[in-house]
Amino acid sequence: MALLSIVVPCYNEETVIEQFYEVTEERLKDLSVEKEYIFVDDGSKDTTLEKIKNLCKEKSNAHFASFSRNFGKEAAIFAGLHEAKGDAVVVLDADLQHPPEVIMEMVSLWKQGYEVVEGVKSSRGKESLFHKMLAGSFYKMISGFMGIDMNNTSDYKLMDRKVVDVLCALKERNTFFRALSFWVGFRTTSVEYEVQERVAGETKWSFFSLIKYAFRNLISFTFAPLYMIVTVGVLFLIGGLALAIDAIVDYFMGAAVAGYPTTIVLQVISTGCILFSIGIVGVYIAKIYDEIKERPQYIIRERDSSDK
Ligand code: UDP
Ligand code: MG
Repeated sequence: MALLSIVVPCYNEETVIEQFYEVTEERLKDLSVEKEYIFVDDGSKDTTLEKIKNLCKEKSNAHFASFSRNFGKEAAIFAGLHEAKGDAVVVLDADLQHPPEVIMEMVSLWKQGYEVVEGVKSSRGKESLFHKMLAGSFYKMISGFMGIDMNNTSDYKLMDRKVVDVLCALKERNTFFRALSFWVGFRTTSVEYEVQERVAGETKWSFFSLIKYAFRNLISFTFAPLYMIVTVGVLFLIGGLALAIDAIVDYFMGAAVAGYPTTIVLQVISTGCILFSIGIVGVYIAKIYDEIKERPQYIIRERDSSDK
């Protein structure tokens, strides 16, 4: 029988682990494939790891790997992909915000020959207007660059073994899983799901960590910020040329030049733009530096005795 690996990144999820397992097992009891669970403890500071270990002791289809510290959800997902042995792998959150019953549908599409089944949010769940706007413009930039509609995509997806092997063979460490599964191609389809309320615990995302996440992924996946700089630069050049011509004309007409405030304003704006631009270029250089150091994306401190 085919094996489905269920990869679950967990960070400080002590309140939901057991419930997650129970609910998922219950909702997937009619699934026609075998299952294994891969819990990746992302350096939790609470008793998540103990909870996971207890579960793995009791249930033969549950396995775990645990990080030496918090490396972030991306790293946890990729560790899970490396650990998974299934013919297909599905990634979902531990907090049951991704309704597990959707896996039934994903598996049946997989059996029809699809190699990637994207989970697409039919609504974004409960989020503030500001959050929605921010997420909206972030996905517009990414989508524009990639030529695909990334809006409402999530990390909830099923991938065939072929796809998982390709993702695992990627050398980059600043990964953006959500977009990479589009980037690799393959026969792709999607299913819609309704984002649920978190069953317990709280979100690990603060406002600033979201901004950081958006910025990091924009940088790692697109050159859009660099093109933006070029556009601003060109606009300044055109504006500057117009002003220069104006000044020259004034000079020959003998008109007095009383442009002190204009000079100051232009000076301040252009300095700001230059610093901003150098900053962005710097971030790309930092990323290159980061990649060439070839540090691993995560460090596993402990895993259960599954034969890997
Ligand atoms: N997560 C993780 N490492 C982190 C932060 C989060 O593995 O550093 C996991 C978390 O345990 C959960 C999933 O990623 O299973 C989604 O996190 P969360 O529910 O906090 O995000 P939200 O649903 O609010 O976007
Ligand atoms: Mg969540």
